[in-house]
Amino acid sequence: EKLSSQDLINLEDKHGAHNYHPLPVVLAKGEGVYVWDVEGKKYYDFLSSYSAVNQGHCHPKIVGALKEQAETLTLTSRAFYNNVLGPYEKYLTEYFGFDKVLPMNTGAEAVETALKICRKWAYEKQGIPENEAKIIVCDGNFHGRTTTIISFSNDEGARKNFGPYTPGFIKIPYNDLGALKKAVAEENVAGFLVEPIQGEAGVFVPDDNFVAEAAKICKDAGVLFIADEIQTGIARTGGLLRVCGDCSCENKCEQQSTYTKPDMLVLGKAISGGVFPVSAVLADNHIMEVIKPGQHGSTFGGNPLGSKVAVAALEVIYDEKLIQNARKLGNIFRERMEKFIQTNDLIKLVRGKGLLNAIVINDSPESSTAWDICVALKDNGLLAKPTHGNIIRFAPPLVMTEEQLHECCDIIEKTIKNF
Ligand code: PLP
Repeated sequence: EKLSSQDLINLEDKHGAHNYHPLPVVLAKGEGVYVWDVEGKKYYDFLSSYSAVNQGHCHPKIVGALKEQAETLTLTSRAFYNNVLGPYEKYLTEYFGFDKVLPMNTGAEAVETALKICRKWAYEKQGIPENEAKIIVCDGNFHGRTTTIISFSNDEGARKNFGPYTPGFIKIPYNDLGALKKAVAEENVAGFLVEPIQGEAGVFVPDDNFVAEAAKICKDAGVLFIADEIQTGIARTGGLLRVCGDCSCENKCEQQSTYTKPDMLVLGKAISGGVFPVSAVLADNHIMEVIKPGQHGSTFGGNPLGSKVAVAALEVIYDEKLIQNARKLGNIFRERMEKFIQTNDLIKLVRGKGLLNAIVINDSPESSTAWDICVALKDNGLLAKPTHGNIIRFAPPLVMTEEQLHECCDIIEKTIKNF
């Protein structure tokens, strides 16, 4: 007997922890920019699983890599070598321009890994007294859900009653170079962990010079600049990475003058096209060499399945020119929305880079307007989700065509007009 959407919602409600509040839609199939619900209704996916399916749903090349490797070898653990990890590590490090990678599975794990490397580097290379290292983070950050990561969140829902909290973090306002300068001058500062655009907080785009200047401040102070590009990276924001800045190169951005190389780069989500959990921390030898056998790891980190999937997913980025497409469609999207909001009082502003965008609703942050608009969008065939306050994030798969994007803009405008 086939279960209806409501049956399936009821099952989750009864048997699953209530740690999410999903939009009431139950998806059963995905292909490219589209998903279908259990009853067969088709939607544009305008969230892309929080920017994990940049390459589109069920991309045949990525799924093909998964199938082939799944029938050959899935997991060896790192107790033994395997014939996939080395080639993957070579591919990944060359792709992003770092000496070494430490492979993990989820975003939060990769952030934890970067924090651990940063601390160890501080004690062993920088001479900070043991247990005294401090890492600077930003107000409004989102880096994941582990106990240490939520220790430096200022989202009360994410923090409350999960203490005691991990010490060793200094919080500064986002996009505030003066505050960063002051903070790095404090004693025993080891690093600065930052999102080049704050995604979860509501797609806050900092000033154009923020990333480059922040990296320079860190360099001058001898502290590590750690970029969390889990949401912004892998073509999402119209460059290979957001640290590439606004350059218009057709390929990897490392040669471009706008590129800022972080000391550590944290990646997840779209590194596998949403097909398998894969994350990574990249750094050069003088940093990564502080990690020795037995000091950090993960049973699944660097497994053959994820490694093959990640190579395929990263190839798709260039095969299908997704960097250029995200940049081009992002410009079209913001242009249309900016024009539209001049005719509509409900939307205060639109902001973003590439295909990571948000609209801010002209209503109190506590109101349910953003949620209600998302429900109306769903009814009209487009799936998006509110993020903090009264903000709706718009982040479709990057394989979208211009024609499809215009159709999506039509749906958004019509929905908001009739709201
Ligand atoms: N860092 C950033 C910037 C993110 O956007 C996210 C997820 O939304 C994470 C870290 C955590 O990743 P995961 O949910 O895979 O643990």
